[in-house]
Amino acid sequence: MRRLLLIGGGHAHVHVLDALAREPIPDTEVTLVSPFPRQIYSGMLPGWIAGHYSIEQCAIQIDLLAKRAGIRFVQSACIELDIEAKQVRCANGQTIPFDIASIDSGPTVDLSFAPGALEYTLPIRPIEGFVTAWPGLLERARLATSGFKLAIVGDGAAGTELAFAIQQRFALEKLANARVTLIGSNAQPLSGLPARLRKNAVSLLKQRGIKHLASRRAIEFFPGQIRLSDSTTIACDACLVVTGAAAPAWPAASGLACDENGFIRVTPTLQSSSHPFVFSAGDVAAYADPRPKSGVFAVRAGPVLANNLRAACTGNTMQRWEPQGNALYLISTGKRHALAAWGALSTSGNWVWRWKDRIDRRFMQRFS
Ligand SMILES: Cc1cc2nc3c(=O)[nH]c(=O)nc-3n(C[C@H](O)[C@H](O)[C@H](O)COP(=O)(O)OP(=O)(O)OC[C@H]3O[C@@H](n4cnc5c(N)ncnc54)[C@H](O)[C@@H]3O)c2cc1C
Repeated sequence: MRRLLLIGGGHAHVHVLDALAREPIPDTEVTLVSPFPRQIYSGMLPGWIAGHYSIEQCAIQIDLLAKRAGIRFVQSACIELDIEAKQVRCANGQTIPFDIASIDSGPTVDLSFAPGALEYTLPIRPIEGFVTAWPGLLERARLATSGFKLAIVGDGAAGTELAFAIQQRFALEKLANARVTLIGSNAQPLSGLPARLRKNAVSLLKQRGIKHLASRRAIEFFPGQIRLSDSTTIACDACLVVTGAAAPAWPAASGLACDENGFIRVTPTLQSSSHPFVFSAGDVAAYADPRPKSGVFAVRAGPVLANNLRAACTGNTMQRWEPQGNALYLISTGKRHALAAWGALSTSGNWVWRWKDRIDRRFMQRFS
C-alpha cells in the first residue's frame, strides 16, 4: 500500500480532496494533516467582518471532505519534515510516514519585522486565530465609549479590503468613535494594481473616513502605540498585521530546495525541484514561472496537482501547469461595492460586488 500525505487543507488541496472523493487512487492510503477541521475562504472573510456572511458560509469543512474521500484526517500542524526518512512530525507529537507528500500549507505572517510586533499585534494568519480574536476586538470597540483606534499594517489587497470591511462593521454597529487607520509603505495602497484603481481606492478610503498613512512603515510596537519610519508615533487600541505572505521555516529546514524567501521551488509539474516525491502548490510554493501570492493561483493549480499526485501513485503521465498570465482581482470595499482589476484594466461598482459574490458562493458550493 502506497502512502500519500497531504500537508495543509489549502485551496489546491480542497480540489485534491474533491477529486479523490470522485475517484480514489487504487492501492493508496491517503492522510491529510491540517491544524483546523475547516478552511476559511479568505476571499469571503472581509464579507464576514462587514456582516454580509456568517462564518459558516465562509468555511470549507475539510474534515468532511476528507471523510467523503475515505481519507484519514489528522488535526494538527506539520512542524518538521524529515526528507531522508520520508516522514513529518506534527505539533501533536505524531509522526506520519509517507511515500509521496504534497504541501499546500499556505503562507504565514512574519512578525519579526519590527520589535514588539509579536507581543502587541494581531496577525491575520492563521486566519482561524483572527476569526477567534475578532469578536473580542469588536466588543472592545463597542465598550470604548471615548473612542477606539484600530490600525492595520499593510495596505496590499488584503489589508485594504479588511480596512474597508472593518470600517463598514463599525458603521453598522453605529460606533461613531471607532476609527480605522491603514499604514503602508507606498504612496498609494494596492501596490501592483492599475493606477486608476489605486486612485479610486484612495478616494474611497477618504470617503469612508479611513485614514491612510502612506509612504511609512511601522518600525516598533508598544502597548497602545506604533512608531513609524517617519519618526512619528501613533496611538492605537488594536493593531492588525496584514503584511505580505511569508514562508514557514520548516520546508527550507528540511533540505527541500527553496527560493531566497523560503518558498518551495517546484517544477511545472508541481514537484519539488530537489525531491520529486514531494509536490507543492499555493502560496507556499515558488513556481518555475513565478506568480504573485494569491488564492487564484492556488485554486488554479488544484486540478493539475490532483492529476499529478494520481500519476505519481499510478505511474501515469504528469501534466505541466502553465499558470495564466493575469489574475482577476476583486476587492470589496465594505458596502456591497467592489473594485476589479484584470492586467492594466480596472473598474468598480455595486455590480462588481455582486459578480464577486456569485464567484465566491459558486466556489464554496462546490465544496459544501
Ligand atoms: C483578508 C484576505 C483576503 C484575501 N482575498 C483574496 C481574494 O479575494 N482573492 C485571492 O486570490 N486571494 C486572496 N487572499 C490571498 C489568499 O488568502 C491566499 O493567497 C491563499 O489563501 C493561498 O492559498 P493556499 O492554498 O496557499 O493557503 P491557505 O489558504 O492559507 O491554506 C493553507 C492551509 O494549510 C493549513 N496549514 C497551515 N500551516 C500548516 C502546517 N504547518 N501543517 C499543516 N497544515 C497547515 C492551514 O490551516 C490552511 O488550511 C486574501 C488574503 C487575505 C488575508
